[in-house]
Formats: sequence, structure tokens, C-alpha cells
Amino acid sequence: MKRAIFLKIFGGCVLLILLIGALSLAFSFTLIRSHYERAEARSLESLGQALLPDVETHLDAGDAEGLDAYVKRMGPRLGARLTVIAPDGEVLADSEKDPATMENHRYRPEVQDAVEGRVGRSERFSYTVEARMLYVGLPLVQEGRVRAVVRQSLYLSYIEELLADLKTGILRAVLVMALLALTASALFSLHLTSPIRLLTQAARRVADGNFATRVHFRRRDEFRLLGEKFNEMTERLEGLFNDVIKKKEELANVIGAIREGLAVFDGDGRLRLANSSFAVFTGGEPAEGRYYWEIVRSAGFQDLIARTRAERKGRTAEFRVGEKPVLGTTSFLDLQDGVVAVLHDLSEIRRIEHMKRDFVVNVSHELRTPLAVLSGAIESLEDGAADHATVDILRRHTERLKAIVEDLLKLAEFEDRGLPPVRASVDVREIAEGVLEMFRPRFLAKGLSLRLEAPDDGLVVKADPYRIEQMLINLVDNALKYTEGGAVAVKLGREGGQTVLEVVDTGIGIVPAEMSRIFERFYVVDKSRSRRAGGTGLGLSIVKHIVEGHGGTVEVRSVPGEGTAFTVRLPSSPDG
Ligand code: ADP
Repeated sequence: MKRAIFLKIFGGCVLLILLIGALSLAFSFTLIRSHYERAEARSLESLGQALLPDVETHLDAGDAEGLDAYVKRMGPRLGARLTVIAPDGEVLADSEKDPATMENHRYRPEVQDAVEGRVGRSERFSYTVEARMLYVGLPLVQEGRVRAVVRQSLYLSYIEELLADLKTGILRAVLVMALLALTASALFSLHLTSPIRLLTQAARRVADGNFATRVHFRRRDEFRLLGEKFNEMTERLEGLFNDVIKKKEELANVIGAIREGLAVFDGDGRLRLANSSFAVFTGGEPAEGRYYWEIVRSAGFQDLIARTRAERKGRTAEFRVGEKPVLGTTSFLDLQDGVVAVLHDLSEIRRIEHMKRDFVVNVSHELRTPLAVLSGAIESLEDGAADHATVDILRRHTERLKAIVEDLLKLAEFEDRGLPPVRASVDVREIAEGVLEMFRPRFLAKGLSLRLEAPDDGLVVKADPYRIEQMLINLVDNALKYTEGGAVAVKLGREGGQTVLEVVDTGIGIVPAEMSRIFERFYVVDKSRSRRAGGTGLGLSIVKHIVEGHGGTVEVRSVPGEGTAFTVRLPSSPDG
């Protein structure tokens, strides 16, 4: 198969050469043979013509013996057999036999012709000498009639000998020519098929994906044009292929960037394409080629896809995948009979909804107690019992209501997403000094020491000064509320590219189990203690929102009974 074309062309040439060689051999042999025979016959004829006068003389003299002796003498000399025959066929003389013993020759073809006045010629097997012979019969004409026939004959084996010499010569020449022709045809076949082989190899490389393949022919025939066209073709193919790859990558990027889980199923319901987010719904990488019911184990999802396929139009449905609430949207692809499914994880939305509900319940709950106390106090006032204790209850609970509402307002304000309204260069040290000044009397009253540790050159951040102050107030307030003896320190400093604010106390501390929850709204560890201290459970939520609004982090370390440290890290301003 590999060199089929070469073998075909070369094989054809070989056959042609052999045929021509054989034909020319056969033709030349027959031509040469007949040429020799004709030449020999002609020379026999002229030989006979030369003998005619002597034969005529002997005949005229009626000297039969003399005639026979004459032919017997001349035959060997001339290298031919001579016979003189009377018109009736009787042999009068013969150079090789006794004429008396020879049969009548009247019906030999050459004799017959000669008797009729023409030169007769014949070629046949002679039983007399037992060899193939060439005969020429000449009429000896006297006064218009044939007096006798002089016949010369020659062994054809003589011609064969001549031919045999020639044959080897011719055969050799033909062989040499055939060899030359074969070499030429082999070269010609190679020349003709080498570009085909090159093109085939190049095409194979292109089929294997090597589009940089090019062919170059130095010849000036159609193959050169074919090579040029081949190169143009691969170049265009390369361009198209790169385009396709780029488009595919773009598509993969776009699909990968979609946060919803996206999957495409073909007409059989097998997965053709999925983005990485889709893996959230399948529990591991979804394998291409698997059926949709194998990939997502959810009755709702399977029903959604089945209906989309049956109705040939898109749908939307809510269902669960495991524990997850999911919103699924499908579109039907008419062209491929396929389905595109987009799955949206509703967990976060549900969580926020839940939080909102909880919040409303919590707020109502927090407001209910002071309101109930207030309405009771008002009732006693109405009953005329306006003692000092009732007024005190009224005052404390009104304050508490005020504190809750204020904290709620702050929280609402800080929860507003987006950047803080003011971004100014703020010196944190200045703010901290102000807050400490504000709290100092209360610390003194409780017998606690309060100190500030800060670098002398100040700490500047780009921030909202009012919110930074609020955050410090809440942290220092908590330190005051939950510390019974010892000291509270506010430490400022730099760490990496960040400004660090720390509020450290020697208070009651927080048990590890509670630490993750204290930043939640209304969450307090010890309700009565918090309330006694005037807490609302919103202070740390506000801190967290302020810190996150500034792109910072807040964390807590605590040892129950020993103390607590809150650490806030804010990105420093470029000039800080
Ligand atoms: P509260 O208004 O009750 O202080 P916060 O949101 O400020 O509410 O704090 C939530 C809870 O975290 C508090 O009730 C308290 O139990 C705990 N907590 C906060 N700060 C400290 C602290 N410095 N030491 C001990 N516990 C604290």
C-alpha cells in the first residue's frame, strides 16, 4: 500500500518495456530472416544464371555424363546443391546424388514454376538430404520453350547459423536498452511520485493537528501549484482552528465566570457541558456524557429537565438538592434538542430572609419588656401611687428604650452597604485620646485604671472619624462593663501595612463556645448582667459593621476569668 502509485507507474513501464523488447526482437528476427532468405535466393538465382550457358552446351552436345560431372564439380565450389531437371521432371544431373536413383521432380513447386517459364522459389524439408532447404528453379529457355530447369538449393541451417550470431548481438543490445529504459522509468516514477509521497506525509501531519506543516517543491509543474494551494489551505485551517480554540476558551471563561451552576444536556439527556459552580449540586466534578438523573440526585431537578424535554420549552422551578434550596431555570435548545439548566443556590437568600425574620422577632422581644414595665408604671401613676421608685423605673426603662432605638438606628446606618459616607485622613491617636477622656470618670468611679499606648508620631488612616470613634466607644464601654477589677488598655500600632487598635481588659472573659456568636445582633452571654450594665446586645454588631465597612477585620481573644482582648485591623491610608 505504501508505494502503490510508484509500483503501478513503474510496473506499467516495466510491462511496456518488456512488451516492446519482445515485439521488436520477434519482428527483427523475422525481418532479418526473410531478408537473408531473399538475399540468398537472389544470389542463388544469379549463380544459376551464370551456369545456364554451360548447362546448355552440355545439353546441346547430348553429353549426359559430362553434365552430371560438371554439376558435381561446380556444386561444392559454389557451396550449393545443383540439380538439372528435364521439363517432364526427370533428373538429368545432380551435384550430390546419382540422378538415376532420384525420383521424378515434376511437381516440386520451384520446378513447376520454372517449367512455366518463371523463376520458382520454395523453402521446405527435403527428405533426400533430411534438412530444411531453400530451392530456386531457373528455366533454361531455347527458342521460346523451356528446355530444362536448373535448380540450386541451399541448406537453411546455414542461414540459421548466421542468424544465431546476430541473435545474440541483437539480444544483448535489446537487453542493454531495456536496462537503460528500466532505470529511466524507475527514476521517472520516483520523480513523479515523490511529491505525492511528500504531500501525503504532510497531510498526515496536518491530520495529527500539526498545522505549521508546509510543503515546498522546487519543480515548475502542477505539483508546485498543488503545494502552494496545500500551504494556503493549512494556513487557513490553522487560522480557523485557532479561532475555534479562542472562541471555545472565551465560552469556557464566560461559563466559568457565571456564579450559578450551568449545565447543558444533549438530546439523549447526557451532560455535554458544565461550569465549575455546577459541581456544588452534583457532589464532585460532573462527568461529561452521564445522564442528568445520574448527576443531580433530586426529584425536583429531574422533573424540571424531563418536563422541559417533553414540552420543548423552558421552565422555572424551586426544589431541594440535598439540604439546599435551589431555583432551577431551563431553556430548550431547538437545534440540538438539548436543555440548558441554570441552578441558583437559594441558601444565602433564605438565610438572609431568616435573619430578617429573627431580627424583627428579636427587636419586638427586646422592646416588649421595657414597654410592659413602662405601661405597668403608668398604671400605678394613674392609680395615684407616684412614689420615687415608680419614677425611677419609668426613667430606667425609658433610657433603655432610648438606648435600643439609638443602637438600632446606628446599626441600620452602618449596615448600609457601600463605602462610608466620609473618607478623611483620621489620626486614630487623637480619637482614642478623646474617647479615653470621655470614659475616665466612669473608670475612676469603678476603681479601674485606663491607659493608652500609642506611637508618638500619631497614626493616620483614611476613614470616617465619627465611626472610628463609635467603634472605640463600644469596645471601651464593653471593657468597662465586663471588668470588675484591674486595668483596661487601649493599644495602637502598625503591623505590616495595617493600623492595629487593641482594647485589652482584665475582666470576666468569654468562654470559647460563645466567642463566635457575640458579634450577632442582640446576642448576649449573660442577659441580666448585660441589662444591668445597660447593654443592648447590639454594640459588637455595630463594631463589626464599622470595621468591615472600612475593609478591616476584628477578632477576639479571651481567657475566662482573666480578661479579653479585641483586635481591630484597618488598612492604613497611603500617607499613613
Ligand atoms: P452588650 O450590649 O450586651 O454588651 P455587645 O454586642 O456589646 O452587647 O456584646 C455582646 C456580648 O459579648 C456581651 O453581652 C458580653 O457577654 C460579651 N462581651 C462583649 N465584650 C466583652 C468583654 N470585654 N469581656 C467580656 N465579655 C464581653
